[in-house]
Amino acid sequence: AKDDGRGCWCIYTDELDRRFKHRRSTEADLRDALADGTGIEVYYQPLVVIQSGEVIGFEALARWRHPTRGMVMPQDFIPVAEASGLITALGERVLRNACLDAAHWDPPLRLSVNVSPLQFVQGDLVGVIERALEDSGLDATRLELEITEGVLIDDANGTLALLKRIQALGVKVVLDDFGTGFSSLGYLRHFPFDKVKIDRSFITDMIGSCEAIAIVKAVIFLGKSLGMEIVAEGVETSGQFDLLLDLGCTQAQGYLISRPMPIQHFKGPILRDEGTRHPFLAG
Ligand code: C2E
Ligand code: MG
Ligand code: MG
Ligand code: MG
Repeated sequence: AKDDGRGCWCIYTDELDRRFKHRRSTEADLRDALADGTGIEVYYQPLVVIQSGEVIGFEALARWRHPTRGMVMPQDFIPVAEASGLITALGERVLRNACLDAAHWDPPLRLSVNVSPLQFVQGDLVGVIERALEDSGLDATRLELEITEGVLIDDANGTLALLKRIQALGVKVVLDDFGTGFSSLGYLRHFPFDKVKIDRSFITDMIGSCEAIAIVKAVIFLGKSLGMEIVAEGVETSGQFDLLLDLGCTQAQGYLISRPMPIQHFKGPILRDEGTRHPFLAG
C-alpha cells in the first residue's frame, strides 16, 4: 500500500511538473508573440436583434496562431496572460486592431471588446481607449467594452470612477457573463451599465428548466426596467431563439447565428434566409 501511495504521488508531481512547464512555455511564447506583433488575431461573432434578425455589431474575440501548436483558444492563454500581466499588452493589441477593423464597417455596426479586470489596475486604460479611437477614427459611440463582475468586487482601485470616465467618452459599458458572479443585483444598482449579457449557462438550461426560464425572464425584465439592452449569449438552437423572442429579449449571440470568424468571412451581402427567424448567414 505504501508503494501504491508513492506511485500516486509521483504521477501527481509529474503531472504538475508537466503543467507548470507548459504554462511557462505558453507565457514565454505569448511574450514573444506580443513583442513581434505576430500571431495574435481577432475573430468576430455577430450580435443580432432578435425581432428582425438584423446584425447590429460584432464581438471581438482573441485568437492566437501559435507557430507550432496551431490555433490556441482564449481559455488556454487568457488565464496565463492574466497571471503574468501580459493581458495588458494583449488587451491593448486586440482593442487597437479591432478598432482599426471596425472603422471600415457600415457606420451603424458596433464593436464590442472584452476588457480584463487587470486592465483596470495596470496601465492607462482610458488613454489606451482614447488612442485606439483616435488612431482608427472609430466613433466612440460605436464601441462597447465588456467587463465581468470580477471588476466590481471591490472598488479599492476606483473602478467605478474609471468606468464613468470611459462612459463619458461616449463608449458603452457592458456587463458580461451576467449571473455567474456574486451579488449581481447590487452591481446593477451601483453602476449604470448600458447593456447586460445573460451568461450562456442560463440559455443552455432554458429548455427543460422552468427555473432557468424564470431567471432569464427576470433578468430581461430587470434590465429593461433599468433602461439597459439585454443580450442572450450562447444561443445554439432555434428553440432557444424563439423562446427568447417570446420573453422579450432584445439581442442574441451564439453558434445558431454564427461562430466567431475572421472579419473577411462576413464580407458581401448579409443574406436573409426567409425560412427561419434567425436570418443571418455569413456572406
Ligand atoms: P466571452 O466574452 O463571454 O465570449 C463568449 C464566448 O462564448 C466566446 O468564446 C465564444 O466563442 C463563445 N460562444 C459564443 N456563442 C457560443 C455558443 O453558441 N455556444 C458555445 N458553446 N460557445 C459560444 P471564446 O472566443 O473562446 O472566448 C472565451 C472567453 O475568453 C471570452 O468569453 C472572454 O471572457 C475571453 N476573451 C476572449 N478574447 C478576449 C480578449 O481579447 N480580452 C479578454 N480580456 N478576454 C478575452
Ligand atoms: Mg464577452
Ligand atoms: Mg460572455
Ligand atoms: Mg460567457
